[in-house]
Amino acid sequence: MYGKGLLKGLSVTGRNVFRKRLTEKYPEEKPQLAARWRGGFQLDVNECIACSLCEKACPNSAIKLTTEKNEENKKQLASYELNQSYCLFCGLCVEACPKKCLRFTREFETATYHKEEVKLDLFKNQNLSASASIYAQPEKATEAARKEEK
Ligand code: SF4
Ligand code: SF4
Repeated sequence: MYGKGLLKGLSVTGRNVFRKRLTEKYPEEKPQLAARWRGGFQLDVNECIACSLCEKACPNSAIKLTTEKNEENKKQLASYELNQSYCLFCGLCVEACPKKCLRFTREFETATYHKEEVKLDLFKNQNLSASASIYAQPEKATEAARKEEK
């Protein structure tokens, strides 16, 4: 029958024209990021027990940390570098951390012109002011954050 294709096409258009729009007007409007968003990293050095599990869990050797002994002969962190240029954002380091002190952040637009800036010195700059992701730490997730993901 002639015009069958046209009718089919119009029916698809008709169905979709009233649907909720999924496109976002980025960059004028910022996107709604999921609560589990993996944008950057933060490390609570005071919580870290220098166990190196995060370093060992990383498949790309993106984490380099060093430890030292304190006055009580206890191991503590001396340096912590995470090179994001090798990072797959797989989350294995965050999942491995027994203290949940290594976390993803919900940072966005982290592109940079300078290669050195993707090397994070999380010992000197813990980045704790950034909003933390709930990835691998559901106990810290608030109901609001969970709803946001839906
Ligand atoms: S997210 Fe994956 S690749 Fe990136 S530092 Fe952690 S373990 Fe390594
Ligand atoms: S796994 Fe966690 S506690 Fe252990 S060294 Fe890494 S950040 Fe610190």
